[in-house]
Amino acid sequence: MIYIRAMMQPIKEILVLLFLAIFSKATGLKYAYSRGSGVPSDGASYCLSWRLGVEANNVRAWRTVPTQCLRYVENYMIGGQYDRDVELIVEQILSYVSDIVVSSGGLDAWILDVDDTCISNVFYYRGKRFGCDPYDPAGFKSWALKGGCPAIPAVLGLYRQLVDRGFRVILLTGRDEETFGQVTRDNLHNQGFTGYERLIMRSAGDHGKNAVSFKSEIRKQLMEEGYRIWGNVGDQWSDLLGDCIGNRTFKLPNPMYFVP
Ligand SMILES: [Mg+2]
Repeated sequence: MIYIRAMMQPIKEILVLLFLAIFSKATGLKYAYSRGSGVPSDGASYCLSWRLGVEANNVRAWRTVPTQCLRYVENYMIGGQYDRDVELIVEQILSYVSDIVVSSGGLDAWILDVDDTCISNVFYYRGKRFGCDPYDPAGFKSWALKGGCPAIPAVLGLYRQLVDRGFRVILLTGRDEETFGQVTRDNLHNQGFTGYERLIMRSAGDHGKNAVSFKSEIRKQLMEEGYRIWGNVGDQWSDLLGDCIGNRTFKLPNPMYFVP
Protein backbone atom coordinates (compact mmCIF):
# COMPACT_ATOMS: atom_id res chain seq x y z
CA MET A 1 0.00 0.00 0.00
CA ILE A 2 2.81 2.42 1.00
CA TYR A 3 4.65 1.41 -2.17
CA ILE A 4 1.61 2.29 -4.34
CA ARG A 5 1.24 5.69 -2.59
CA ALA A 6 4.91 6.43 -3.20
CA MET A 7 4.44 5.53 -6.88
CA MET A 8 1.38 7.80 -7.15
CA GLN A 9 3.12 10.92 -5.79
CA PRO A 10 5.28 11.71 -8.86
CA ILE A 11 2.31 10.95 -11.14
CA LYS A 12 0.21 13.46 -9.17
CA GLU A 13 2.95 16.10 -9.51
CA ILE A 14 3.21 15.53 -13.26
CA LEU A 15 -0.58 15.87 -13.61
CA VAL A 16 -0.55 19.14 -11.64
CA LEU A 17 2.27 20.55 -13.79
CA LEU A 18 0.47 19.42 -16.96
CA PHE A 19 -2.71 21.13 -15.76
CA LEU A 20 -0.83 24.36 -14.98
CA ALA A 21 0.85 24.30 -18.40
CA ILE A 22 -2.50 23.87 -20.20
CA PHE A 23 -4.20 26.42 -17.93
CA SER A 24 -1.55 29.12 -18.43
CA LYS A 25 -1.56 28.54 -22.21
CA ALA A 26 -5.35 28.69 -22.33
CA THR A 27 -5.62 31.90 -20.30
CA GLY A 28 -2.60 33.55 -21.85
CA LEU A 29 -1.02 33.95 -18.40
CA LYS A 30 2.72 34.16 -18.41
CA TYR A 31 4.21 32.96 -15.15
CA ALA A 32 7.92 33.00 -14.72
CA TYR A 33 8.90 30.41 -12.16
CA SER A 34 11.94 31.20 -10.09
CA ARG A 35 14.35 28.41 -9.27
CA GLY A 36 11.63 25.79 -9.54
CA SER A 37 9.92 27.09 -6.40
CA GLY A 38 6.53 27.21 -8.08
CA VAL A 39 6.17 30.88 -7.08
CA PRO A 40 5.30 33.29 -9.87
CA SER A 41 7.82 36.13 -10.05
CA ASP A 42 5.43 38.63 -11.62
CA GLY A 43 4.71 42.18 -10.38
CA ALA A 44 2.16 41.16 -7.74
CA SER A 45 4.62 38.68 -6.28
CA TYR A 46 7.26 41.43 -5.99
CA CYS A 47 4.74 43.71 -4.29
CA LEU A 48 3.74 40.95 -1.88
CA SER A 49 7.41 40.56 -0.93
CA TRP A 50 7.77 44.31 -0.61
CA ARG A 51 4.73 44.55 1.66
CA LEU A 52 5.97 41.69 3.81
CA GLY A 53 9.31 43.48 4.09
CA VAL A 54 7.53 46.65 5.19
CA GLU A 55 5.35 44.90 7.76
CA ALA A 56 8.27 42.96 9.22
CA ASN A 57 10.28 46.21 9.54
CA ASN A 58 12.92 44.90 7.16
CA VAL A 59 12.18 47.66 4.64
CA ARG A 60 12.60 50.96 6.48
CA ALA A 61 12.59 54.71 5.88
CA TRP A 62 10.84 54.30 2.53
CA ARG A 63 9.36 57.50 1.15
CA THR A 64 6.86 56.21 -1.39
CA VAL A 65 5.21 52.98 -2.45
CA PRO A 66 6.97 51.58 -5.55
CA THR A 67 4.95 52.81 -8.54
CA GLN A 68 4.58 49.29 -9.89
CA CYS A 69 2.74 48.38 -6.66
CA LEU A 70 0.01 51.02 -6.97
CA ARG A 71 -2.71 48.56 -8.07
CA TYR A 72 -1.49 45.93 -5.62
CA VAL A 73 -1.66 48.31 -2.62
CA GLU A 74 -5.01 49.69 -3.81
CA ASN A 75 -6.42 46.19 -4.07
CA TYR A 76 -4.93 45.22 -0.70
CA MET A 77 -6.34 48.28 1.09
CA ILE A 78 -9.84 48.39 -0.37
CA GLY A 79 -10.34 44.90 -1.77
CA GLY A 80 -10.92 43.20 1.58
CA GLN A 81 -7.54 41.71 2.53
CA TYR A 82 -6.55 44.66 4.74
CA ASP A 83 -9.82 44.30 6.69
CA ARG A 84 -9.29 40.57 7.10
CA ASP A 85 -5.71 41.10 8.30
CA VAL A 86 -6.86 43.66 10.89
CA GLU A 87 -9.66 41.33 12.01
CA LEU A 88 -7.16 38.51 12.56
CA ILE A 89 -4.90 40.77 14.65
CA VAL A 90 -7.87 41.90 16.72
CA GLU A 91 -8.81 38.24 17.32
CA GLN A 92 -5.27 37.65 18.60
CA ILE A 93 -5.49 40.70 20.86
CA LEU A 94 -8.82 39.56 22.30
CA SER A 95 -7.44 36.08 22.92
CA TYR A 96 -4.55 37.67 24.87
CA VAL A 97 -6.92 40.03 26.69
CA SER A 98 -9.20 37.18 27.79
CA ASP A 99 -6.43 35.86 30.07
CA ILE A 100 -5.79 39.19 31.83
CA VAL A 101 -7.40 39.79 35.20
CA VAL A 102 -8.23 43.49 35.40
CA SER A 103 -7.57 44.92 38.85
CA SER A 104 -9.84 47.39 40.58
CA GLY A 105 -7.24 50.13 40.85
CA GLY A 106 -7.94 51.61 37.42
CA LEU A 107 -4.35 51.35 36.24
CA ASP A 108 -4.58 48.51 33.72
CA ALA A 109 -3.92 50.33 30.49
CA TRP A 110 -3.81 49.83 26.75
CA ILE A 111 -2.19 52.23 24.35
CA LEU A 112 -3.70 52.73 20.94
CA ASP A 113 -2.34 54.91 18.17
CA VAL A 114 -4.93 57.05 16.33
CA ASP A 115 -4.24 57.46 12.59
CA ASP A 116 -4.75 54.22 10.69
CA THR A 117 -5.15 52.40 13.98
CA CYS A 118 -8.45 53.75 15.36
CA ILE A 119 -9.49 55.87 12.40
CA SER A 120 -8.64 55.46 8.74
CA ASN A 121 -6.96 57.76 6.25
CA VAL A 122 -7.44 55.41 3.32
CA PHE A 123 -9.81 57.83 1.54
CA TYR A 124 -7.16 60.53 1.71
CA TYR A 125 -4.48 58.17 0.45
CA ARG A 126 -6.69 57.10 -2.44
CA GLY A 127 -6.12 60.62 -3.77
CA LYS A 128 -2.40 60.16 -3.21
CA ARG A 129 -2.18 57.01 -5.30
CA PHE A 130 -2.16 54.89 -2.12
CA GLY A 131 1.24 56.23 -1.11
CA CYS A 132 2.90 56.28 -4.54
CA ASP A 133 2.86 60.09 -4.25
CA PRO A 134 5.25 61.64 -1.70
CA TYR A 135 4.02 62.83 1.70
CA ASP A 136 2.12 66.09 1.40
CA PRO A 137 1.91 67.78 4.83
CA ALA A 138 -0.46 70.56 3.66
CA GLY A 139 -2.75 68.08 1.91
CA PHE A 140 -2.88 65.83 4.96
CA LYS A 141 -3.52 68.79 7.25
CA SER A 142 -6.55 69.94 5.25
CA TRP A 143 -7.89 66.33 5.18
CA ALA A 144 -7.43 65.82 8.94
CA LEU A 145 -9.00 69.21 9.72
CA LYS A 146 -12.23 68.01 8.10
CA GLY A 147 -12.53 65.47 10.91
CA GLY A 148 -14.04 62.87 8.60
CA CYS A 149 -11.77 59.87 9.17
CA PRO A 150 -13.95 56.77 9.50
CA ALA A 151 -13.42 54.24 12.30
CA ILE A 152 -11.61 51.03 11.43
CA PRO A 153 -14.48 48.71 12.37
CA ALA A 154 -12.50 45.85 13.92
CA VAL A 155 -10.43 48.26 16.04
CA LEU A 156 -13.56 50.09 17.19
CA GLY A 157 -14.91 46.72 18.31
CA LEU A 158 -11.66 46.02 20.16
CA TYR A 159 -11.72 49.47 21.74
CA ARG A 160 -15.26 48.98 23.04
CA GLN A 161 -14.38 45.61 24.53
CA LEU A 162 -11.29 47.01 26.26
CA VAL A 163 -13.28 49.88 27.78
CA ASP A 164 -16.15 47.59 28.79
CA ARG A 165 -13.72 45.20 30.50
CA GLY A 166 -12.34 48.02 32.64
CA PHE A 167 -9.07 48.78 30.87
CA ARG A 168 -7.97 52.41 30.70
CA VAL A 169 -7.46 53.09 27.01
CA ILE A 170 -4.94 55.81 26.28
CA LEU A 171 -4.89 57.17 22.75
CA LEU A 172 -1.40 58.34 21.84
CA THR A 173 -0.85 60.20 18.58
CA GLY A 174 1.85 62.27 16.94
CA ARG A 175 -0.80 64.77 15.84
CA ASP A 176 -0.19 68.30 17.07
CA GLU A 177 -2.53 69.33 19.89
CA GLU A 178 -2.78 72.99 18.93
CA THR A 179 -3.69 72.32 15.30
CA PHE A 180 -5.64 69.08 15.56
CA GLY A 181 -6.78 68.85 19.19
CA GLN A 182 -10.45 69.70 18.85
CA VAL A 183 -11.02 68.16 15.44
CA THR A 184 -9.40 64.90 16.54
CA ARG A 185 -11.52 64.69 19.69
CA ASP A 186 -14.64 65.39 17.61
CA ASN A 187 -13.67 62.89 14.93
CA LEU A 188 -12.99 60.14 17.47
CA HIS A 189 -16.22 60.92 19.30
CA ASN A 190 -18.40 60.86 16.19
CA GLN A 191 -16.89 57.51 15.20
CA GLY A 192 -17.72 55.91 18.56
CA PHE A 193 -14.42 56.27 20.42
CA THR A 194 -15.89 57.53 23.67
CA GLY A 195 -14.87 56.78 27.24
CA TYR A 196 -11.12 56.73 26.76
CA GLU A 197 -8.84 57.61 29.64
CA ARG A 198 -6.77 60.21 27.77
CA LEU A 199 -5.98 61.45 24.31
CA ILE A 200 -2.33 62.46 24.30
CA MET A 201 -1.03 64.60 21.44
CA ARG A 202 2.15 66.51 20.75
CA SER A 203 2.40 69.77 22.68
CA ALA A 204 4.68 72.67 21.73
CA GLY A 205 7.60 71.10 23.60
CA ASP A 206 7.36 67.89 21.57
CA HIS A 207 7.92 69.46 18.16
CA GLY A 208 11.00 68.10 16.48
CA LYS A 209 11.00 64.83 18.42
CA ASN A 210 10.70 61.74 16.28
CA ALA A 211 7.79 59.41 16.96
CA VAL A 212 9.85 56.82 18.84
CA SER A 213 11.26 59.43 21.27
CA PHE A 214 7.95 61.25 21.76
CA LYS A 215 5.91 58.11 22.36
CA SER A 216 8.58 56.50 24.54
CA GLU A 217 8.68 59.56 26.81
CA ILE A 218 4.90 59.53 27.19
CA ARG A 219 4.77 55.80 27.94
CA LYS A 220 7.54 56.22 30.51
CA GLN A 221 5.55 58.98 32.23
CA LEU A 222 2.45 56.79 32.23
CA MET A 223 4.35 53.93 33.85
CA GLU A 224 5.74 56.33 36.43
CA GLU A 225 2.13 57.28 37.19
CA GLY A 226 1.54 53.61 37.94
CA TYR A 227 -0.16 52.42 34.77
CA ARG A 228 0.49 48.85 33.68
CA ILE A 229 0.67 48.87 29.89
CA TRP A 230 -0.78 45.51 28.91
CA GLY A 231 -0.75 46.16 25.22
CA ASN A 232 0.24 48.68 22.60
CA VAL A 233 -1.36 48.80 19.15
CA GLY A 234 -0.17 50.82 16.16
CA ASP A 235 0.20 50.79 12.39
CA GLN A 236 3.82 52.03 12.51
CA TRP A 237 6.85 50.39 14.04
CA SER A 238 7.64 53.78 15.57
CA ASP A 239 4.49 53.32 17.70
CA LEU A 240 5.86 50.07 19.09
CA LEU A 241 9.63 50.51 19.46
CA GLY A 242 11.62 52.39 22.12
CA ASP A 243 11.06 52.39 25.88
CA CYS A 244 8.20 51.06 28.01
CA ILE A 245 6.56 49.50 24.95
CA GLY A 246 4.12 47.42 26.97
CA ASN A 247 3.71 43.72 27.75
CA ARG A 248 2.74 43.00 24.15
CA THR A 249 2.77 45.01 20.95
CA PHE A 250 0.50 44.51 17.96
CA LYS A 251 1.42 45.86 14.53
CA LEU A 252 -1.46 46.71 12.24
CA PRO A 253 -0.80 46.69 8.52
CA ASN A 254 0.01 49.88 6.65
CA PRO A 255 1.66 49.65 3.24
CA MET A 256 0.85 53.29 2.35
CA TYR A 257 3.37 55.32 4.35
CA PHE A 258 6.25 55.12 6.81
CA VAL A 259 6.59 57.32 9.89
CA PRO A 260 10.16 57.37 11.24
MG1 LIG B 1 -0.78 55.61 12.98
